[in-house]
Amino acid sequence: MAAPTAHIAAMPRPSIDWIAPQPMGIHVPCGDFWIDPSRPVARAVVTHGHADHARGGHGEVIATPGTLAIMEARYGPQNGARPLEYGETLRVGEVDVTLAPAGHVLGSAQACMERAGERVVVSGDFKRAADPTCAGFTPIQCDVWVTEATFALPVFTHPPVEAELAKAVLAARANPERCVLIGAYALGKAQRVIAELRRIGWDAPIYIHGALAKLCEVYEAHGVALGELRPALAAKTAEMRGAIVLAPPSALADRWSRRLPDPVTAMASGWMRVRGRARMKGVELPLVISDHADWAELTSTCLEVGAGEVWVTHGREEALVHWLEQRQVRAKALHLVGKEDDDD
Ligand SMILES: [Zn+2]
Ligand SMILES: [Zn+2]
Repeated sequence: MAAPTAHIAAMPRPSIDWIAPQPMGIHVPCGDFWIDPSRPVARAVVTHGHADHARGGHGEVIATPGTLAIMEARYGPQNGARPLEYGETLRVGEVDVTLAPAGHVLGSAQACMERAGERVVVSGDFKRAADPTCAGFTPIQCDVWVTEATFALPVFTHPPVEAELAKAVLAARANPERCVLIGAYALGKAQRVIAELRRIGWDAPIYIHGALAKLCEVYEAHGVALGELRPALAAKTAEMRGAIVLAPPSALADRWSRRLPDPVTAMASGWMRVRGRARMKGVELPLVISDHADWAELTSTCLEVGAGEVWVTHGREEALVHWLEQRQVRAKALHLVGKEDDDD
C-alpha cells in the first residue's frame, strides 16, 4: 500500500493566484508591476528589447543593462531605468524578481518571480541554441512556467546556423559579379548573422543598411565583436560585388536595394522553413535561422523546468497546450495582444 505522503505528492499543485495575466501583459498586483506590457504603465519589467515586448514611456523600467541600452538606442533615454544584472534579486512589493539569461538577443532575460515559496518564471522569447551574441538560456525549476510559442508546431525544426550561413558564403563566392543581400531583423538576428559569419571565417567587410548601424554599435559596446562593418549607402556599387550585405527585411524589395550589384536575395528567419513564405517574399536563398525555440526546444524545456502548470503567452498556443495536457501537465493559453512574430 502506498504511503500517505506519496499520495499527497501526486496531488496537483494549486494554481498560483498572485499573478494576473491580462491581454496587455502579465500583471503582478502584489508587486505593482507588469511584465512586457503593450501600453505604458507605472512600473514594467521588460524581458528584452524587441518592440512587441519593450515599449517606451513607462514610469519605471526594470531590465538588464543590455535591454536598457537597446531601449535607449530605439526610444531615447528612459525615465526610471532600473538596471538589474542577471542573477541579481530585487524586492518589488511582495515579490522577489530575478532576471536570468533567455538566449534570445543581447540582454534578453527570463523574469523569475518568487513569493511565499512559490516560483513563477516568464520566459520572454527564448532559444536553446548557442548564440555568440548573448548569454545562453539557463533553465530554472519553477511551479508555473510562462512560455512563448512562436514556433510551436512539430514542423518547426531549426537547423544548425553554420550550415545555413555556409549557403550564403557559397553564394557570394559563386557570384563574384553580384552580392548576397540577407534580410535580417534589425535587433538580434542581424548581429547574430554577422557574428556567425565571422565564426565560420567570413572576414571581408560586411555592408549594412543604415537601420542596423545603431544596434550593431550597442552590441559592440557590450563586447560582441562584429568585425569590419561598412555603410552600404556610402559604398560604390562595384565595391559590393562578391560581398555580403545585410538589411532589414522591409528593405529587400524597396528602392534602397536598387543600387546593389544584382543581389542574390536571402532571408534569415525561422519562417523560411515554410516554402510558401519564402516564395511569397521573392527570396531566392531562404536561410532557416531563428532566435526562438523550435518545437523540440519548446517541449523539452517545458518538461525540464519541472513546472506543474504551463501558461502560453503568444504564438501557436493550441499545439503546445494539447501536447502538455497529454502529459498530465496543466496548460492554458493566455492570448496576449500586441505580440508579433518578431522573427522576421
Ligand atoms: Zn523577441
Ligand atoms: Zn516576441
